[in-house]
Amino acid sequence: MTSPLQRTLLKVIVLGDIAVGKTSLITRYVHKKFNQQYKATIGADFVTRELQIDGKLVSLQIWDTAGQERFQSLGPAFFRGADCCVLVYDVNVQKSFEALQTWRDEFIKQTDIPDPNKFPFVIIGNKIDQDAGASRVVKEKRAREWCESIKSGPLGTEIPYYETSAKEDVNVEDAFFNIAKAALSHDRSQELYFESITETGSLSEIVEQQSRGCPC
Ligand code: GDP
Ligand code: MG
Repeated sequence: MTSPLQRTLLKVIVLGDIAVGKTSLITRYVHKKFNQQYKATIGADFVTRELQIDGKLVSLQIWDTAGQERFQSLGPAFFRGADCCVLVYDVNVQKSFEALQTWRDEFIKQTDIPDPNKFPFVIIGNKIDQDAGASRVVKEKRAREWCESIKSGPLGTEIPYYETSAKEDVNVEDAFFNIAKAALSHDRSQELYFESITETGSLSEIVEQQSRGCPC
């Protein structure tokens, strides 16, 4: 039996310096896997995972940078219709933390969002497992201070902050659940109606097929 389903499509953009673990976090969340070897992301522009928030069916479309972490090379389609921007840094690399401000500024510049202080951003400090914490250089307190100094979301509260390990699967599920919630708070009622998709029929498969249409 098919039944009409109503889903909310939310677009999430993940940004941050190269090798901080963006692709690993997304892979952990969507495919529940981790790959130790570094492999630059090529081609794939987004993946989706479906979840329920307060009884509402949400299709979370997560956009990864394709190995060229430079704004000039990310086309306008990358930013169009974003509902949440996730900024990732590596707690073991000071420079990647300092770059967060630039990533945020550039995102705002590219998207022309009317009120940046009301747009949902989420910060992730990744690789907390590395050397059992011995190589950590950015303290949680320092990161939280920065997040407190910047307003985010429709209520203009501080940027939500999560510390994760994509490798050890620490906090990844929780972080993305809250990312989805933040994105939902920005929802501009762009609801999609799928009339002939069964409960188990996968929107993500369709979306993934579409996204793979272009090998560029
Ligand atoms: P991206 O360039 O930001 O997409 O980074 P990747 O996801 O490709 O990860 C870069 C490298 O860091 C890879 O070798 C990963 O295996 C490793 N890595 C990613 N996340 C973690 C983590 O949570 N802990 C540790 N120890 N290594 C990680
Ligand atoms: Mg990557």
